[in-house]
Amino acid sequence: MLHCPNCAAELDKTDSAACWNCEASFEGESAFRPLAQPNGPFRPFPRRASQPIQKDARAVGPMNPFAATLLRAVLAAVVWLVLGAIAVLSVLPYGGTSVWVTLFGILSIAILPWILAPLLGLVARRPKPPEEAQGDA
Ligand SMILES: [Zn+2]
Repeated sequence: MLHCPNCAAELDKTDSAACWNCEASFEGESAFRPLAQPNGPFRPFPRRASQPIQKDARAVGPMNPFAATLLRAVLAAVVWLVLGAIAVLSVLPYGGTSVWVTLFGILSIAILPWILAPLLGLVARRPKPPEEAQGDA
């Protein structure tokens, strides 16, 4: 029975590429080589097997769509308020319209799809029957 030189775990297979317990690599330029006898007491490591890590990475993903949407909504609110304040201030002394008012109008419409983009991506990944038909008559 071979043992891990790092944590003294018993290795199931002689051709193991890495320790199942501490994930010490026995491949390539790694200094670790399995030992015939343990070089000390066994030191259990927190479970870091490959399967749970993959599951966690999947669950976390690039970013939670709802968190991403919330983040975008907050950012959009700040930008929207700032641009809205500029638009109001630019119009107040003279009345009429300014390029800021136009920008504010465009932003107000364009920012919604941007905020909802992560949620739309979520819907696209899990196709569901459309709940409301888009009636463009
Ligand atoms: Zn080990």
